[in-house]
Amino acid sequence: MTRTEALRRRSRELLVAKEVAVVVGYRRSITGPAKPAFITSPDNSDILIFDETCGPNLANYLLRVRHLGRIAVVAKGCDSRSLLVLLKEGQLERKNIHILGVGCPGVIEDENLSDSCTTCVQHNPVVFDEMVGEPVAETSGRKDAQDRLVQFESLSPDERWQELTSDLARCIRCYACRQVCPNCYCPVCFVDNNMPQWVGRTTGLSDNIIFHIVRALHMAGRCVECGACARACPVGIDLMRFNCKVARIVKERFGATAGMDPAEPPALAAFRPEDPQEFIR
Ligand code: SF4
Ligand code: SF4
Ligand code: SF4
Repeated sequence: MTRTEALRRRSRELLVAKEVAVVVGYRRSITGPAKPAFITSPDNSDILIFDETCGPNLANYLLRVRHLGRIAVVAKGCDSRSLLVLLKEGQLERKNIHILGVGCPGVIEDENLSDSCTTCVQHNPVVFDEMVGEPVAETSGRKDAQDRLVQFESLSPDERWQELTSDLARCIRCYACRQVCPNCYCPVCFVDNNMPQWVGRTTGLSDNIIFHIVRALHMAGRCVECGACARACPVGIDLMRFNCKVARIVKERFGATAGMDPAEPPALAAFRPEDPQEFIR
């Protein structure tokens, strides 16, 4: 039985038994690649698929459908890591989620492995209720995320500024990167607030820089480097450069990798009384 067939069967069984109210998975889009699917009737389970085009991080949709009741969700490695972040931050209750784990060999885009998948360190889910199909081999990333930063960090400060600003000047502030991110869930984003207005709404360079710096800081210790934001960006801004850099700093300073360890407290939302930095105490 293929993984798609097994997912359809489990979706049907879970819905018929009323163990869940909705199954969040993937279906084929009109243009070809998979898109999110929300199945509430067992009769619709046969639209589910799982293949190498299943890029969207499905943890992104759970807060939007939790009002329906218990949720079954198809989770690759990165989806499960985002889910873990949401659970740790108290956004979801574990008993309300049934995780259908799937091993993920990587997302194919334009006939190539998606850039973020080349550095993936967790292809199989870190938490799941059942695995659908066999796990895949953990390659711990075909290349190190650090490689992404080597060229940039070898530049002089002026050259880095030039490279960053020419990249960020192209941002059209469509917020697709925010919308697809499972861990970007504030009811009112700082960019939309107007009392007070934290950042201007233009696509001028200084407003764009503030948007990207603040977003990167908000994602520190929470970004799982799934690459959904980078894939969604219509102008191809190198968002993984920020994501990998911030994740590396969090790893160095807090010893934490987002969404990898169910027992580990969120890196920036916990403190130890014995913290070496006095201002924490
Ligand atoms: S980062 Fe890519 S390879 Fe890793 S689990 Fe997610 S989609 Fe799959
Ligand atoms: S998706 Fe790309 S263009 Fe749109 S706001 Fe994000 S970085 Fe800017
Ligand atoms: S910031 Fe991008 S890479 Fe990080 S969790 Fe959000 S969508 Fe994934």
